[in-house]
Amino acid sequence: MRTAQPIGQAKSRLRWNGNLPKPGSGEVPYAKSRPELKGFSEAQIARQILDSKAWKEIVKPVLDQLDKERARPGKEKPLYSSEELESVLLYQRVCGMGSYKRARNALAGDRGEARQLLGFDKPRNRNRRVVKLRDGVPSEATVSRHRARFGERRRLEVYLALEQRLLAEHLALPELQEEARILNLDGTKIQTHYTAPIIDPKTGRTINDARVTAPDAGYVPQSAGPDKSGHGWNLVSITSTTGVPLAWRVVPLHASERELAIELIRDDYANRVKPHLKGDKLSVLSADGAFAKQEVRAELRRLGIVENIHLVSHGDTAQSKANATKNTAKRIRIQGSKTWFTNGHRELICACGAGTTIKRLGLDRNGKAVVRSEGTCKKCGSITITSGDWRKAQHPDSWVRINPQNPNEKPDLLMGNPLTFNDRIAAEYGRRRFGHHEGFHGALVSRFGLIKDKRWFRRLDEAKIATAITFCAMHVAALEQRRRRAEADADQAQAPPALAA
Ligand SMILES: [Zn+2]
Repeated sequence: MRTAQPIGQAKSRLRWNGNLPKPGSGEVPYAKSRPELKGFSEAQIARQILDSKAWKEIVKPVLDQLDKERARPGKEKPLYSSEELESVLLYQRVCGMGSYKRARNALAGDRGEARQLLGFDKPRNRNRRVVKLRDGVPSEATVSRHRARFGERRRLEVYLALEQRLLAEHLALPELQEEARILNLDGTKIQTHYTAPIIDPKTGRTINDARVTAPDAGYVPQSAGPDKSGHGWNLVSITSTTGVPLAWRVVPLHASERELAIELIRDDYANRVKPHLKGDKLSVLSADGAFAKQEVRAELRRLGIVENIHLVSHGDTAQSKANATKNTAKRIRIQGSKTWFTNGHRELICACGAGTTIKRLGLDRNGKAVVRSEGTCKKCGSITITSGDWRKAQHPDSWVRINPQNPNEKPDLLMGNPLTFNDRIAAEYGRRRFGHHEGFHGALVSRFGLIKDKRWFRRLDEAKIATAITFCAMHVAALEQRRRRAEADADQAQAPPALAA
């Protein structure tokens, strides 16, 4: 499913339509391997989040309020402020640690940077004489009480707001605006050690009531394959070509990805991302066949995005290959033309086979994507297919024109979209999606410990909080990388020319 097509020929031979975004290097800005981020530790990321204007305006007032609520007249001030207690949980998540116990051990054992940066380098114990290594680092019980005081709902709300604010700051940079013209949509599971309800599809009843420990998690049976099955949630996200998360949702594992994709585009992308993009430019979104739905295509077009989503899998299995070949060989008639046909992938082919196709892509005056394919052949003449004007009729298969103004008509939007299964530009976007997969997903797996292995999340809100904090860390690291890069570039531009020896 996720294999990209090999690109045999040199990239320079790809012909880009002027309105299509050209992929840049696609490098992940928050990657640890970035030279600018050398030595930029997890503790520094946490510190940077704590020092941000966004934190001070969104999170700190809520934590200060918590302190007011727990103050008792005549009693001594607590050893740690709520902000300090929250900072260790933030640090835990930025490090990708599954428990506070681990974060506490790391902090206690670390006599240097992290402890100092987070302000836990002084013993707080007012009564005892003996200063132990862990003195000055809040205990598990203290942190657990803080968590209970904060409450999961309130905690989720502030982190969602913080993540949104950091995204907006990030999107103010022209670099990210350009990177965000090439989008990827993906679902990946967040598995839990706990047990989700297993619902019998026939009766709609839960069959494992007594064993359920994660009531709002979802369950997908093993028959769905290793990528999709298990107990937990699905993180569906729209990311930039550089692996920056732009819009996301976490839902029970069995929830429909396609339904979710529509909400994600119509609500989250439209409200969180679109307003920050300057200038009307066409974007491209690549996704796998799980998202091949007419409504998904229509929502994307409305927002000025042309979709690169195919009906047929690009997978390497014999079955996928046979299906792809069968669709490439197919010929479907087009109403009004005797010389042009499409194959099963909706690719234009002329009778003599020598014709070529041109992509006609752009935006209309409302910012909506206009999507057309043009075929030309000396022998067979030319044809223009505007996506939205055609639907497929059956017995026998053929393309018929519809009235696009009629809301009751259901066009096949892939017809006329030139980013087709065998198109090389489409394949290039697909290849980038695959590369990006390693950057974004790789970081979620190995660095932030959010996906792949099972987590000790019992509730959906826990998974959402962990995701929001992880994305905050990505934005802060990326912003730091871009800042340092710009600084280095400016230094270089200012430096006097080297003296000849
Ligand atoms: Zn021809």
